[in-house]
Amino acid sequence: MAIEQNTKVNLLGMGLPALEHFFVEELGEKKFRATQILKWIHQRGVDNFDDMTDISKVLRAKLHERAEILAPEVTYRKYSKDGTRKWVMKLPGGSAVETVYIPEDDRGTLCVSSQIGCALDCSFCSTGKQGFNRDLSSAEIIGQVWVAAKSFDEPDKKRERRITNVVMMGMGEPLLNFDNVVEAMGLMMDDNAYGLSKRRVTLSTSGVVPAIYELAKVTDVALALSLHAPNDELRNTLVPLNRKYNIKMVLDACNHYMSRFSEKRVTTIEYTLMNGINDKPEHAHELADLLRETPCKINLIPFNPFPNSGYERPSNNRIHRFRDILLAANYNVTIRKTRGEDIDAACGQLVGQVTDKTRRSERFIEAVQLGQTAAELASARFERSSQT
Ligand code: SF4
Repeated sequence: MAIEQNTKVNLLGMGLPALEHFFVEELGEKKFRATQILKWIHQRGVDNFDDMTDISKVLRAKLHERAEILAPEVTYRKYSKDGTRKWVMKLPGGSAVETVYIPEDDRGTLCVSSQIGCALDCSFCSTGKQGFNRDLSSAEIIGQVWVAAKSFDEPDKKRERRITNVVMMGMGEPLLNFDNVVEAMGLMMDDNAYGLSKRRVTLSTSGVVPAIYELAKVTDVALALSLHAPNDELRNTLVPLNRKYNIKMVLDACNHYMSRFSEKRVTTIEYTLMNGINDKPEHAHELADLLRETPCKINLIPFNPFPNSGYERPSNNRIHRFRDILLAANYNVTIRKTRGEDIDAACGQLVGQVTDKTRRSERFIEAVQLGQTAAELASARFERSSQT
């Protein structure tokens, strides 16, 4: 028996150029329809063509036939007393991703995932422990923003903007899903969609050096580097990708990225503090020396423990001592507040409780058989994708 294929195009993840191409070339319609649809989908949260009242019945019928607006399905949602919101979204194939919203006095930040799992296997990361399953499509990435934005329409229907910032800092290494992440970030910044400024969309990378240079050619979003160690010896143990792209190579790439801007832009250095591992005074002094030539601000993240992680959160005294050394060296330093503790623990842990982990074992066996490290696998994937 023939299996019916779903050949409808999902419009959710399409940026304006792709949508214009679809309307003009595929439907024989005028270009401006793309802008109209973009506003309906992303500004009004509409996913049914019948609700798009300024579009003719004939065009709506055409759209029903050829296209769909398909957001990820929310299987778990929890709203914390402190305003933090978490969603687990189910994706085709049975996997899931996690998205988190964190409100602060002057902003509301949404932390978005770019992959299901992650191949880079950072030793302190709950997502890394789940292994890599697959890249998210641009629709699945922007779909997380769509779901979160729509959640603020419940139940008061207020249209005030609650999401002021998006950070690509959830599950996955965004630069290993380059094209889809760039397309989705374009929608985040498009005035017909979410209209966020380039300074309020942040891509966080563990240091895929060739991809940082590629990124510099196509976008000007904010850049964060997950550094976590002040020297290569220690970083090799925490972030295996460092064996392929060492700290100097990564910082050079970040400096190149920022050097394009006429206004002052800085790299955010993410540094997860783990008790007794990378939080000693000598580490802080070494970090201060290391970053002397890198325009940056430093975000210290007290480790958020998860079962069998093998690491602990440092005491507040140790965290403050580390920060004070950096402040004395004239760095702009913040300590990330722990939020939403009543709804969950570390990033990636929630999905870890519900995800089928068989793909992880398959990938692991594949890697061992090939004699490859995670860093080599990741690098090969980027090189392959940039050639296509
Ligand atoms: S810290 Fe980021 S890059 Fe490292 S394993 Fe976790 S998700 Fe992947």
